[in-house]
Amino acid sequence: MKLSISFDVPDFDQYEIEIQCPVCRLHNWVKLGEIRRREFTICRGCHYNILLIDHLGKYQKFIRSLEKTFNNIL
Ligand SMILES: [Zn+2]
Repeated sequence: MKLSISFDVPDFDQYEIEIQCPVCRLHNWVKLGEIRRREFTICRGCHYNILLIDHLGKYQKFIRSLEKTFNNIL
């Protein structure tokens, strides 16, 4: 018996997480896609260019927790 489950994988790139500016400590919201692509974001407080690669660990942790949630649903 072949069992196939199909469901729409949500577009993780559109999720937003909060990161802290290393300079002024202000919290900024960035899309996961921006972190995945290792882009920069500009702090809305001090206009510092935040390199999102520093937040990859946080990104991976977030993805893992999302996957866990979906696995629980299935
Ligand atoms: Zn800042």
